Amino acid sequence: MSTNPSTNVSPLLEVTDLAVDYRNGRRSFRAVKGVSFTLECGRTLGLVGESGSGKSTIGRAILGLAPVSSGSVRFRGEELATMKRARRRELSNQIQVIFQDPYSSLDITKTIGYTLAEPLNHHERLTREQTLKRIREMVRRVGLPEESIHRYPAQFSGGQRQRIAIARALIGNPKFVVCDEPVSALDLSIQAEVMNLLAELQKSMGLALLFISHDLSVVRHISDDLVVLKNGLAVEHGRADDIYANAEHPYTRSLLAASPVPDPQAQAERRRARQAAAIGSHARTPSLERI
Ligand code: ADP
Repeated sequence: MSTNPSTNVSPLLEVTDLAVDYRNGRRSFRAVKGVSFTLECGRTLGLVGESGSGKSTIGRAILGLAPVSSGSVRFRGEELATMKRARRRELSNQIQVIFQDPYSSLDITKTIGYTLAEPLNHHERLTREQTLKRIREMVRRVGLPEESIHRYPAQFSGGQRQRIAIARALIGNPKFVVCDEPVSALDLSIQAEVMNLLAELQKSMGLALLFISHDLSVVRHISDDLVVLKNGLAVEHGRADDIYANAEHPYTRSLLAASPVPDPQAQAERRRARQAAAIGSHARTPSLERI
């Protein structure tokens, strides 16, 4: 296992040459084609690319929800790809996930208090009072009133439900969270609030995040590093600041040009760049619509 020479700390997550095949009868389709990256404690890796590029498949392979055909996925040095179920269950307090749609990932028949108690009951031996204290604390940390614990998911807005999903993922103090398009289903103003909350919790809890998004502008402020995926391949990988300042791959530049920025002048420049890239792409590369 490699180490980071500047800190001499092993990566929390090490994905090496990961390939994932989906099978449909006799036919097989390679959705991820040899992707490698590492993630250290307390850092955020943005995984970006257009729909169908293989982002969720990578997240799912790490979580044990998609088959690893070859390569390795190590968490604190332990191979996840071939791990026994019982060991994976033990690790589930350290590895968590926040999905795009909190409504389908929350049990609508259970109160928020019950939903938040579940991970604690699985992994920690707490008294009823201690459990309640942790639940109340977590609910406050995600910006919801304490009485939310007596309510059901249907009684909350989309943004509030995503806060509940965040609370459920974080209540057991995980080390690593896969965030799979966690704000894509929310209105723009709510997206910003939820992103700020995630960034704040990431810092205060020292979380490592794998942040999956089709939108480079969403991951911009939270990512230390970026992997840009196209058709299952990592076409660009490096420090987020470097990539935003000077993307090397034309696909990354197209994604950057397509992602909205708050400054209208910068947006106008990007639009011009996108149009120029589209004109140039007829001669060199396929347009984004056809990628
Ligand atoms: P992204 O998250 O970037 O939108 P996905 O990882 O969901 O991309 O999908 C990558 C490719 O794998 C797509 O072509 C998609 O159609 C295909 N795919 C995803 N899940 C399955 C599945 N369960 N069975 C077959 N093909 C799948």
